[in-house]
Amino acid sequence: MVTHVLDSMNEVITNNYDTNHKAVDIVANDNSEANIIALESGTATTVVDNVKGPNHKSKGLATYGNYVKIKQNNGKTALYAHMKHGSVKVKKGEYVEKGTIIGTIGETGNAYGKHLHLEIHNQNNVKENPTITLNEPAPSSQKPEKNYINPTYNNSKTTTTTNKSVSKNNQKSEFLSAYNYHYGSIVDALKSINIDSSYNYRKKLAKVNNIKNYHGSYSQNIHLLKLLKEGRLKKA
Ligand SMILES: [Zn+2]
Repeated sequence: MVTHVLDSMNEVITNNYDTNHKAVDIVANDNSEANIIALESGTATTVVDNVKGPNHKSKGLATYGNYVKIKQNNGKTALYAHMKHGSVKVKKGEYVEKGTIIGTIGETGNAYGKHLHLEIHNQNNVKENPTITLNEPAPSSQKPEKNYINPTYNNSKTTTTTNKSVSKNNQKSEFLSAYNYHYGSIVDALKSINIDSSYNYRKKLAKVNNIKNYHGSYSQNIHLLKLLKEGRLKKA
């Protein structure tokens, strides 16, 4: 069964779950301010909608910016973070049906770029892997419109990659792409398509892609990675 978390149904994962990031980050494939919908029915237990924009010095709960927590009927809690100021559609204590729009993708709290930060807390308040399986487009296709979220709690590493065809595609294009890479590292993403991942080459890539003064910062690397995942990273 397929369940979406954006009503535009064009989810792309930009940052996966790992020990340093117990959540998944999601954008719409056209980077639009898509509406976020409830993954499962439940009761809104926390609603914050007074944060105006990004704050990279924020600590604790403030890092979420505007966020909604829903205690789901299945006993788990979903947390939807970084929503756009003024976009939140639910009230504290309100019962929210699965699929209801709860707000809009934004960049509030400690966010770099507009995205949804999604956490799933289990009954013991442990942050689980909200493993989301994307049905990636074939590397030759530039339109990742078949992406969907399948909230099965399987290990996402079972996703197979087609590196050979990706590299082949990369040879004739002026852009590099890594549509099948689902994790958060530009170095690993470049390795996965057999491209030089050294600092010096990344610096060249940054230059031709208009990322100024590259020094390997988190936000610069995320920027490179985003372009690469979208097939828009110019070769250097
Ligand atoms: Zn996140």
